[in-house]
Amino acid sequence: MKKYFNDPRPITIRYTGKCAECGTTLKKGSAAYYWPSDGKLYCLSCGESEYRQFLSAASDEEVYQGIGNPLAC
Ligand SMILES: [Zn+2]
Repeated sequence: MKKYFNDPRPITIRYTGKCAECGTTLKKGSAAYYWPSDGKLYCLSCGESEYRQFLSAASDEEVYQGIGNPLAC
């Protein structure tokens, strides 16, 4: 799969924050998902479904490589 700079990814929290979906507190040192494109953190339960959707969408995008994506900036 092609890697994008803005790929969401699982991370270990460095600074205490909140899940952008459910608002639960994410403590330093705990696992979470991070979306660099919008700077949001998600807890594992919220982030996992979003992350899977991303993976599925990203693999769909590969189909369009070579003909260009008119929606890409
Ligand atoms: Zn959450």
